[in-house]
Amino acid sequence: MSETHIPVALRREVIARAGNRCEYCGMPDDATLVSHEVDHIIAERHQGKTERENLAYACFRCNRLKGSDLTSIDPQTGNITRLFNPRVDKWGEHFRLRGPDGAFIEPLTAIGRTTAMFLEFNDTEWMALRLELLHQSRFAPPMS
Ligand SMILES: [Zn+2]
Repeated sequence: MSETHIPVALRREVIARAGNRCEYCGMPDDATLVSHEVDHIIAERHQGKTERENLAYACFRCNRLKGSDLTSIDPQTGNITRLFNPRVDKWGEHFRLRGPDGAFIEPLTAIGRTTAMFLEFNDTEWMALRLELLHQSRFAPPMS
């Protein structure tokens, strides 16, 4: 969660790799009032290291909701399920944009369901912002 120890060059590399978009929900970093952050996928308190393979670019919202958690409960099966990991998982295998306007992030897998629920991807306000950005051709799914 803390990004105080991430060297500037590494931070820049993570942001460029992400295409300036949140690697969880896809929100571009020029669309939010609060800055995106470089997230430790495995939090430092769980021994996660500050290295490129453990870092992801995340909007403040996804980063806050994720906290230091690595798992949650699949809302469909009740099983403990790990959260989406942008360094290991491909976004398009776990989610897709759906709906007449394409603003709804539909989960496709247990990891997708658990992450979409835990990070509140389809929260009304967040979906409204996504819709606005889609209309301006400023939204695309994450790079991974
Ligand atoms: Zn996000």
